[in-house]
Amino acid sequence: MHEYAVTKSIVDIVVKEAEKANVKKISEINLVIGDLSTIMDESVQMYFDIITKDTIAEGAKLVFKRVQAEFCCKKCGNKFIKPSKGFDCPTCGGLGTPTGVGKEFYIESIEVD
Ligand SMILES: [Zn+2]
Repeated sequence: MHEYAVTKSIVDIVVKEAEKANVKKISEINLVIGDLSTIMDESVQMYFDIITKDTIAEGAKLVFKRVQAEFCCKKCGNKFIKPSKGFDCPTCGGLGTPTGVGKEFYIESIEVD
């Protein structure tokens, strides 16, 4: 499960930054996850609870912001949100290609006590 590795790196970054700023407790972490990133919220949450034990991030709330996948039609140039099935342009039926929007995975911000 690659969620373990990504969760571990999130915790490492957040804890390091917070300690640098003399923070004693992290209360909330806001994450941005694109729909194409294949990261499962529940897995991240599960590993987060394990990894943060006895750290200043223990008990912090994880907030997931989902970014919908955006595609661009090769035929007409229309940009659209990926339909639940397939990649077809809703305007002309042409094939859509990923624009890069929807592959995000990063820490947007953290809240501290
Ligand atoms: Zn089109």
